[in-house]
Amino acid sequence: MKNIYFIGECMVELRAMSAATLHQSFAGDVYNSAVYLKRCFPQVTTSVVTALGQDNLSKKMLERFESEQINTQLVFAHDTKVPGMYYIETDEHGERSFIYWRNDSAAKKVVDFLDADALEQLSQGDMFFFSGISLAIIEESAREHFWKVVKQLKDAGVKIVFDPNYRARLWNSVEETKEQYHLAFTLADITLPGVEDLTTLYDVHSVEAVVEYLKPYQIEEIVVKNGPESVVTKEGDTLQSHTIIPVTNVVDTTSAGDAFNGVYLGARLSDKPISSAVQLAAKAAGAVIQQPGAIAPKDIFQLAMAE
Ligand code: ADP
Repeated sequence: MKNIYFIGECMVELRAMSAATLHQSFAGDVYNSAVYLKRCFPQVTTSVVTALGQDNLSKKMLERFESEQINTQLVFAHDTKVPGMYYIETDEHGERSFIYWRNDSAAKKVVDFLDADALEQLSQGDMFFFSGISLAIIEESAREHFWKVVKQLKDAGVKIVFDPNYRARLWNSVEETKEQYHLAFTLADITLPGVEDLTTLYDVHSVEAVVEYLKPYQIEEIVVKNGPESVVTKEGDTLQSHTIIPVTNVVDTTSAGDAFNGVYLGARLSDKPISSAVQLAAKAAGAVIQQPGAIAPKDIFQLAMAE
């Protein structure tokens, strides 16, 4: 059985439904990817590595992970911290706005829980995934330990997977982000950048420019996403362009990239070639953006995937 670990943060989501009603759910990039991977590839053991609190919402979040068949062995409970939260509102023009309370979340402490036992377990994995958001939320004082863990996993033969998923507001400066991303690209075996994410950081404006930028790094597999435009992949020296069927009825693009990542990696762990993995991933992302919120209802999602 193949085995993948997603490290990062899942938050409490509060969505304004009307002036007096909030809908509460759970979301966060790595969690979203884990959910869609598991829904499409139930045979792949899919784990989220994070820290929650001891509170009732943390317990409900853990139950939600379990109801999505996600392995929670490395979901830790911090003594005093609680999960991060965000509020999302859509105005009459369809524009979304967010407010976040995540600066003091339990997930920021996740690296503190990565002891020898956790490392032993992570070393058994086939893939270890982190995103630019995972990197941004990890406390500065924990970074050294985090990179040591990533190096040890790579040495143990675990494939390191990185999605830059750049969120400017989570970083102190562009220089800090670039320094951390350089370490990530240096260790990554697979990377799944979106063009938009890298434009601000490296002044690259096309899939080709992204591939060119990543050339000096020894990354086995590069998958460049570009909204409804073709996905470009590079495996060794082989470049391939994969056409995406654009979705006309786009409701909410939240987690398009996350769904893509999860399903792509699930397909690769199930020995599918890159071209089929991209097609499945794009189909999943296309289904997700036709539903509001990060996590599409399971039945609707499964139906769309079966079409
Ligand atoms: P992110 O969510 O990380 O910004 P993108 O916007 O690049 O990522 O989208 C990720 C993937 O979602 C794309 O590679 C594509 O497969 C799919 N996707 C995004 N927008 C559309 C669209 N309008 N129509 C069809 N597929 C889309």
